Amino acid sequence: HHPSLQANAVGYTRRDYEGKISTLCAGCGHDSISAAIIQACWELDIQPHRVAKLSGIGCSSKTPDYFLGASHGFNTVHGRMPSVLTGANLANRDLLYLGVSGDGDSASIGLGQFAHAMRRGVNMVYIVENNGVYGLTKGQFSATADRGSKSKKGVINHDSPVDLVGLALQLGATYVARGFSGDKEQLVPLIKGAIAHQGAAFIDVVSPCVTFNNHAGSTKSYDYVREHNEAVSRIDFIALGAEITASPAPGETIDLPQPDGSIMRLRKLHADHDPTDRVAAMNHVQALQAKGEVV
Ligand code: SF4
Repeated sequence: HHPSLQANAVGYTRRDYEGKISTLCAGCGHDSISAAIIQACWELDIQPHRVAKLSGIGCSSKTPDYFLGASHGFNTVHGRMPSVLTGANLANRDLLYLGVSGDGDSASIGLGQFAHAMRRGVNMVYIVENNGVYGLTKGQFSATADRGSKSKKGVINHDSPVDLVGLALQLGATYVARGFSGDKEQLVPLIKGAIAHQGAAFIDVVSPCVTFNNHAGSTKSYDYVREHNEAVSRIDFIALGAEITASPAPGETIDLPQPDGSIMRLRKLHADHDPTDRVAAMNHVQALQAKGEVV
């Protein structure tokens, strides 16, 4: 985003990048994502007070309290994080905007908000912590629940899921990736790449809900996602080819310049398409969806 966001010799400590003690359920994927955000900002030397973190409603949207305690935060109403973030962005373009949301927040009530933030190319990092259920209201299927996924009470979901990665690609986001809360080695670089990116950067992070959606038959359980992790952690698309210094072959690495001028190498890029080709990325996502591998 902005080289000036870096702390350089200002002398922040790791504690400035952490937040309050989490009140989420022990083992919730969202806490791993908070840890990855802390790690990414720490490694990039981002000055915490140059970060604005915004969220909506849901377990995911509670998490900004648990990272970057020395930054600015605003907890908006349900599904409305993108509008408030857009307004803040217009008032002050010098901050790094981190939008944290969930699948209920962004794929249902906030779907229009999500769509227009992507369409407008709002300069932000947009992270959806995707577990397929409304955790805060006790585990009803959300709009990203996979068809055929089984609820804890044995109910099968018959509806097609909203695939936010596919939507982000179609609507014009210029950095689109999918990660897994349980794969920190891949998630931290994905977040760093999004921070370095100028424009709308979207990361869909599959983040299991241990309390309501982690049983056998759930396609967003730790076991299921670990089995399918090869397909989950990847960059689908990144615009502005100049940002990529090495053209990745399928299954290889990708090099992304960082705000400090260094190069970030993303390990094991699981993509069998050229991530600078939007149409190829859309076909790739649709092919995975048709196979039921990542939805
Ligand atoms: Fe996480 Fe689910 Fe607990 Fe919410 S209910 S904190 S999503 S494990």
